[in-house]
Amino acid sequence: MSFQAPKGTFDWLPPRSEQILAVREALVAPVRRAGYGYVETPVFEDTQLFARGVGESTDIVSKEMYTFPDKAGRSLTLRPEGTASVVRAVLQHGLHNGQLPVKLWYSGSQFRYERAQKGRYRHFWQVGAEALGAEDPALDAELVVLGAEGFAELGLTGVRLLLNSLGDKVCRPAYRAALQEFLRGLDLDDDTRARIDINPLRVLDDKRPEVRAQLAGAPLVVDHLCAACKAYHEEVRSLLTAAGVAYEDDPRLVRGLDYYTRTTFEFVHDGLGSQSAVGGGGRYDGLSEMLGGPPLPSVGWALGVDRTFLAMEAEGLLSGDEQGRAPGLVQVYGVALGDDARRRMFLLVDELRRAGVSADMAFGGKGLKGAMKGADRSGARFALILGERDLAAQAVQVKDLTTAEQTEVPLAQVVDVLKGKVQ
Ligand code: AMP
Repeated sequence: MSFQAPKGTFDWLPPRSEQILAVREALVAPVRRAGYGYVETPVFEDTQLFARGVGESTDIVSKEMYTFPDKAGRSLTLRPEGTASVVRAVLQHGLHNGQLPVKLWYSGSQFRYERAQKGRYRHFWQVGAEALGAEDPALDAELVVLGAEGFAELGLTGVRLLLNSLGDKVCRPAYRAALQEFLRGLDLDDDTRARIDINPLRVLDDKRPEVRAQLAGAPLVVDHLCAACKAYHEEVRSLLTAAGVAYEDDPRLVRGLDYYTRTTFEFVHDGLGSQSAVGGGGRYDGLSEMLGGPPLPSVGWALGVDRTFLAMEAEGLLSGDEQGRAPGLVQVYGVALGDDARRRMFLLVDELRRAGVSADMAFGGKGLKGAMKGADRSGARFALILGERDLAAQAVQVKDLTTAEQTEVPLAQVVDVLKGKVQ
């Protein structure tokens, strides 16, 4: 009997898995430089945290959560997103009683029971950043800029930034009512009609052509912003312009989560087909109170690591050699012939690793041919060949696998010599 990974999930395997680690590092490098600290929360939480924090009316909560009872009968849910957990952790540990804003970043698996397709998985990876406890357009702009820098750090040039404001508790209710009135006049199916009452903004996000056609004249939130929201949004836009970050105003941009207010944004990549969002976020001033905390106006984003990888693939940015092989995991590969040489090689690769040179060696008692094949396959730059005769002479053959050039180096010097060559 053989097992397969569950539908909608996949495995990251070497050497590509090294590249996904590098993507993740690059995406969070800008926030780490900006004073955001690392937070790690549990992969599962009390189901109510997401029901309240993400919103009962969202697709995530109503259709996509992996919810299960534990052995004591508690209802737990595998996290579908990171923000609710981060806010829960901040409130639980009173981080908001210290310096504000509290700036945090996270990285980890998310779980959503979605219709699986390319770029849309049931288990996927996000990195996220949240700044909690300050209402300041500069903070919104900072996060947008840092997200854009993460993509730029990877060399991506095809990421576009879409920007909108969703208003706040002053202006949103009137807009919501105007939108509901408009939507009620349309020819929609029952499910969509039901949505008009619970989450009318989501109807704007409907992708079906027959619905889209009817939405052409829908009222737009930008036309209903109160003076404070308008001024706030203008300031965010002018800071982005000053920072040289290009954006497109998208008055129809809404997001699937209930807790967003004011600034909303999405990073999209046109090389990804229908699943084009590589990241998104916005301001969520009401979330803390929805979770029983004090008012804590906050802003954050989550970037999709798997989708960013696909975007890099689409732009041909993933490094590899001419055969498309990803770079090797080690710089040096040891090939030893005979038991004494193998013992010496075991110690030598360890010495190399301690000296900061990545190294592997042939295992399993292979002959010279098999071991050299292993050296080639490893992607290492250098092979170290140690036979009984070399050992007797206290020397080792260093072969540059890119040029096939081979030189003999005394064993006592080989660590230093290789250190010089691989740096
Ligand atoms: P969200 O939490 O829905 O705002 O998503 C933020 C980012 O996570 C999106 O822009 C995607 O890049 C990524 N993402 C969301 N859902 C999935 C999924 N099912 N599979 C892969 N990536 C996803």
